[in-house]
Formats: sequence, C-alpha cells, structure tokens
Amino acid sequence: MAYLSLKDINKIYPNGFHAVHDFNLEIEKGEFIVFVGPSGCGKSTTLRMIAGLEDISKGEFLIDGARANEKGPRDRGVAMVFQSYALYPQMSVYDNLAFGLTLQGIDEDIIEKKVKSTAQILGLTDYLDRLPRALSGGQRQRVAVGRAIIRKVGIFLMDEPLSNLDAKQRVTMRSEITDIHRKTGSTTIYVTHDQTEAMTMADRIVVMKEGYVQQVGTPYELYFNPVNVFVAGFIGEPPMNFVKTTVKGGKCRIGENTVDVSTILGDKAKSYEGKKVVFGFRPEAISLKSTEGCSIKASVELTELLGDNTNVYVDIQGEKSILKVNPHDTPEMDSEITFFIPYSSIYLFDGETEKRI
Ligand code: ATP
Repeated sequence: MAYLSLKDINKIYPNGFHAVHDFNLEIEKGEFIVFVGPSGCGKSTTLRMIAGLEDISKGEFLIDGARANEKGPRDRGVAMVFQSYALYPQMSVYDNLAFGLTLQGIDEDIIEKKVKSTAQILGLTDYLDRLPRALSGGQRQRVAVGRAIIRKVGIFLMDEPLSNLDAKQRVTMRSEITDIHRKTGSTTIYVTHDQTEAMTMADRIVVMKEGYVQQVGTPYELYFNPVNVFVAGFIGEPPMNFVKTTVKGGKCRIGENTVDVSTILGDKAKSYEGKKVVFGFRPEAISLKSTEGCSIKASVELTELLGDNTNVYVDIQGEKSILKVNPHDTPEMDSEITFFIPYSSIYLFDGETEKRI
C-alpha cells in the first residue's frame, strides 16, 4: 500500500474554475516527488489540497491508507515551506527555529537539542544568534526549511522554495535540499516550474498542463520516453526540436531533406501513411562528425558559446532548430552544415493528438 494516495482528485474553485482534473498518484514513503509545469497548471492547488489548505472538490486523499479529505492541516502530519519564507524579523535564527515547538509547550531542554541538531543538518550552527536581516537569501531559506523539518513530520511540502534566490544560490540550495531529504527520509512533494530543479531533485516527476497530469515518471523516463509533444518539449534544455511533416512512402521531409522513418513507425507505418506527424530530436542528440543516422543540411544563423558546449541556431530550409555541439567543433556563422541524427534518437508524434507514436 502506498503511503499517500491521490485518487481522481479534482479542484473546482467557488467561481466554477476547474483547476485540477482527475489527478491520480501513489506516493511511497520517503519518495521525493516533484510537480512541474508552466504557470497556472494546477501544481500549487494540488499541493494545497494535500496540505489541507484547500478543499478537495472530488476524489479521495489517503494518508497511510486512511481517508484524510476532512482532516485539518495540523492533523495531517505535514510541514510546508512556501516561496516567501516569512521569518520573524525580530527573532534570532534560534528563536525562529524554536518558535513552533515553544508554542506546543515542549520542554526547553528538548527544544535546544532539536534546534541544535536541525542547525547542524542545515549548516546554521554558526548563525543561531543572528537576526534574519543579517543572513543571505540562501541562509534565510535554510532557516525556513529548518522550521519545517524541526517538527519531524512525515510529509514535507515545498512550493517553489527557491524562486526568491539568485541562480547560484538556487544551485547550492538544490543539492542542500536533496541532502536534507536523504538525512531526514521524509516524504517530500516539491512544486516548481523549473525543469532543471525537477530533473536534478526528483525520484519521480509529475508533469502537469492546464490542470491535467501529462506524465509521471523518473527523470530518466521523462527525458528518454516522453509520452507527448508537451512533455518532450518541457523536459530538456534547450528543448527538443520539432518539425511538422507528413509521412509519404515511409519517409518524411525535413526542410529539403528526406528521412526514412519506416523502421521507427514499425507496424504503424501503414496506418500513418499520408498522415501528419511531428518529428522530434534533441539538440544534444546530433553529431557533426559521426555519419550514423539520417543526414540533414542546414544553414547556421547564430552560435552561442556557453563553455562546455555551443548552441548552434540553424535554419533547415525554413525550419528553425537548435543543435548542441562541442565548442571545438563550433561551425562558422552563415556557413552550410550537414548534421546527423541517429535513428534511435528520432521521436515521432501523432500530428493530431501530439501523442508519441
Ligand atoms: P504558478 O506556478 O503560477 O503558481 P500553478 O501551477 O501553481 O501556477 P495554481 O496556483 O495551482 O497554478 O493555479 C491553477 C489555476 O487555478 C490558475 O488558472 C489559477 O488562476 C486558478 N486559481 C488559483 N486559485 C484560485 C481561486 N482561489 N479561485 C479561482 N481560481 C483560482
């Protein structure tokens, strides 16, 4: 039996807006789950229903096999960290961490032990006497996380906790949160619109769009086996390249290049004959040197050297794409190139439903 079960969960707000449709998910104890998707897709609404901060309009939410729909936030054993980490400005780090426990009337000695061990986990031991204003953004966020984990609850909910930090701090905090999760072993649900955060932190990712779950899977599954155009385009940076085309005689035209897709279509080749498809390939899957796969001619419009690789913006006779290449192989601007896509790296999607073929 899963630790948390969301069964056909729906949210219809009082104004009639249907924000979440038939959300189904089983979460094991200790898992790190990330909800990811563009703004407004229903991630926070789902998290808030789990927290007990929003009513569930339809469906059932179970904790450890017991229905929890009617339980208040305090009775669910959840702790939540929000985007704005609202520390008490007049209180020291120690008091900010201790506050919730003091309210519960817990013994001072026990509080001190808990504050110290939490500070140890978070690397805040040297900052316990400081006020929040004397901390960096990342340190403040760690105190906010500390306030949640000090309660030793089983379920840890985080809503875009890193969005107020700068890019460098985000990278550091990402690995710190993963580390805290390993140390505490608490079941964690983390909301973000950032696919890199999702890929680097999650055991499993839930990709959402317009209130619907698109796919649930490990980062590996989502990257290599996306079920539709949306997931394929959302996971990966730069995103997968897509070209709309039509199957004719088992082949597709990509600009003025012809690619044999009959093997990829396999036994569906006949049913897709004459049909519209979306041809997808990842920027990093191509090669300028190895001649394995199909060859595509393109002209180079722009190159961006990023250090570890170069993004090459190309025009394939009217179709725009991005290629990721070794910086030592960066082609000249305005030059004509031929690149190769291994057949195993070509993704085909149905032109109507956008589902993977
Ligand atoms: P973001 O990353 O922008 O927070 P999100 O994926 O977390 O996006 P939600 O905050 O869950 O999205 O919102 C989902 C949809 O529900 C949005 O279209 C939002 O406008 C709508 N919504 C949120 N709260 C309410 C409310 N109280 N009443 C009506 N509609 C709401």
